[in-house]
Order: sequence, then C-alpha cells, then structure tokens
Amino acid sequence: MSIIVSQVSKKFGQFQALDNINLEIKPGKLVALLGPSGSGKSTLLRAIAGLEPPDTGSIIINGKNTTHLDIRKRNIGFVFQHYALFKHLTVRQNISFGLELRGRVKKGIKAKVNELLELIQLEGLGDRYPAQLSGGQRQRVALARALAVEPEVLLLDEPFGALDAKVRKELRAWLRRLHDNVHVTSVFVTHDQEEAMAVADEIVVMNQGSIEQVATPEELYEHPATPFVINFIGEVNVLPVTSNLLSNSSPRNNISEIFVRPHELSLSHQEDGEGTWGIIKRIIHLGWEIQAEIELEDSHEVVAHLSREKFDQLNLKTQEKVFVKPSKMRFFQMH
Ligand code: ADP
Ligand code: MG
Repeated sequence: MSIIVSQVSKKFGQFQALDNINLEIKPGKLVALLGPSGSGKSTLLRAIAGLEPPDTGSIIINGKNTTHLDIRKRNIGFVFQHYALFKHLTVRQNISFGLELRGRVKKGIKAKVNELLELIQLEGLGDRYPAQLSGGQRQRVALARALAVEPEVLLLDEPFGALDAKVRKELRAWLRRLHDNVHVTSVFVTHDQEEAMAVADEIVVMNQGSIEQVATPEELYEHPATPFVINFIGEVNVLPVTSNLLSNSSPRNNISEIFVRPHELSLSHQEDGEGTWGIIKRIIHLGWEIQAEIELEDSHEVVAHLSREKFDQLNLKTQEKVFVKPSKMRFFQMH
C-alpha cells in the first residue's frame, strides 16, 4: 500500500504548518518523519490519517484519493505517544475492540488476538488490565490494537516518547523486527535522530513545514543535502570559509561555510598537507572514543573525535600544539 502526498499545504491562522509537501512512501516500507519540535511532523501524519484535512493538495493511499475521506472510512492504524488504552478493559479486550466493532465472528477474534499477543510477546498477560502493565508493555498493546484490524497503513506519532531511554531502545529494536514480520506500510514520527536511524528504511527530514531531504539513514549521514540536515544528523563543525583549515588554493566561490564531522579531523604532531595548527583546550574520554576540543590558530574552535588507540599513540595532552587536518569537508553552494 503506497502513500502519495502531493502538494499538501496547511495553515493554522497565519502560520504555515505544512508548505507544499511532496512525498511518496513505497509499499511495505517503514519511514520516519524526523525534525525538530514544531516542524510539522504530526500535522503531516494527521493529514495522512484524515484527522487534519489539508488546505490544498492531495493524499493518495493505495491509488485511492483519500484527501477528504473520513478517518473511519480509511483503513488506518494509529498509535500516539499517549495512546489511552481502555482502562476498564483487559489487554485481550483492548486488542479485540476494533474487531468486535466490525462484527467479526467470536472464534476468529480469539485466534487473531492470540496471534497478536504472541507478536507483541505478551502471551501470558492477556487478562491483565492496563494499570497492571509497564509503559513499554502498554505501548505494545496499543500497537497490537492498531494492527488487529489489519490496516493498510500504520501511523505512529512518537510512540515511545513517554518512555525512559532504556525501554525506548528496546522497543525500537522490537518495532524494527515486528515490521520485518508484518510489512505494513508504516510512518513513524520522531524528533530523535538516533531513533529514526535505528528504525527506518527511509528518513524524511522536516524543517519549518518543508521537507529538507528524503534518504536512507546512511545516505543522510554521508550525503546531507542541506546545511540544516548536516547540522541535525550527527555532530558537525561549522567554520567560516575564511578559516585556515581551508588551503588558499581551494575554490571558495559562492560558499560561506565549511562543514567537517568531528571524526573527519585528523591530528598529528607534524605539519601534514592541508590544515592548520591549533591548541588542545580540553580532552574528554567517551569510552572507546576520545573527544578533543581544539582552538585553531585563526581562533575558531573545533571538536575532533579519535579512537582510544590513536589517542594513546599520539600521547596527546591539553595545552599541546597539534596539526589539524580535515580528511573530508563539505560545502553548500549559496543560492
Ligand atoms: P511537530 O509534530 O513537528 O512537533 P506539529 O505538526 O505538531 O509539529 O506542529 C507544527 C506547528 O503547527 C507548531 O508550531 C504548532 O504549534 C502548530 N499547530 C499544530 N496544530 C495546530 C492547531 N490545531 N492549531 C494551531 N496551531 C497548530
Ligand atoms: Mg508532534
């Protein structure tokens, strides 16, 4: 079931929440909408769900124009951050709710609920009430409830947002495996880039109601399309194009800044091609990785990451002079 979002815009009063969104989600994919708070992720998800009709544009789900179709007429599963399970119903009753509403036969419902309990690995807990479950277990039940009616698409809005870091990590791996089994076309909203990278086949980076880039996690990190993406995905040093890090022979036309990832700066005790000298201001131990904060001769500060092994080999000390050489730099042409 594919989802095609075409020229969708949405204003709240004077505020442009979505600005001409074009997006195609291929059948069976798990796609993340990633961006800072307020960038329009939930509004786009709600437009796909039919909860927030767009001002202009269309949404085509599986070849059918659903732009103005009522949510009850769309076959969509939705999981929110605080998906209130019915408190007075057991886990089983929560999962079977939508099936009973659709008038399915009792025997079929029972089998389906058993299958879903197994899928969410809560086989023994079917007779418990939501209050007797942990937060992570409740979100798994919410997901089973959404999947019970076999939706064409599954939409998840920060489903793990209210859980603590460790449970979030477990659930994201679990969701990835579950999707590999179920293959329902899914759109997952998160503001957490690591979560998006860990879970999604493809990531849609949003900023101020627009799409900055659509790419796989790897492409996004290696080939960011815009300054916003390179800043948002992973760490990066941003330096003016006048920095000494750039040799005089490098072309500078139409460029104002250079972007260098911390692991793309190499340090040495000798001058070594393109680069510049600096003083180590601070050394931070991050387990297997070392972070060095360096003030360059031109007084700009950069952060370099190096392996523990390399660090020991160089025997680096604070206040020491080092030569800083970029192995890779990125530029974006100004328009
Ligand atoms: P995100 O999910 O990326 O954090 P949202 O899509 O929820 O962002 O919101 C985008 C912007 O639209 C925000 O600035 C938000 O305040 C505004 N907004 C969202 N829904 C409404 C609404 N119903 N009325 C007015 N403004 C809204
Ligand atoms: Mg949101």
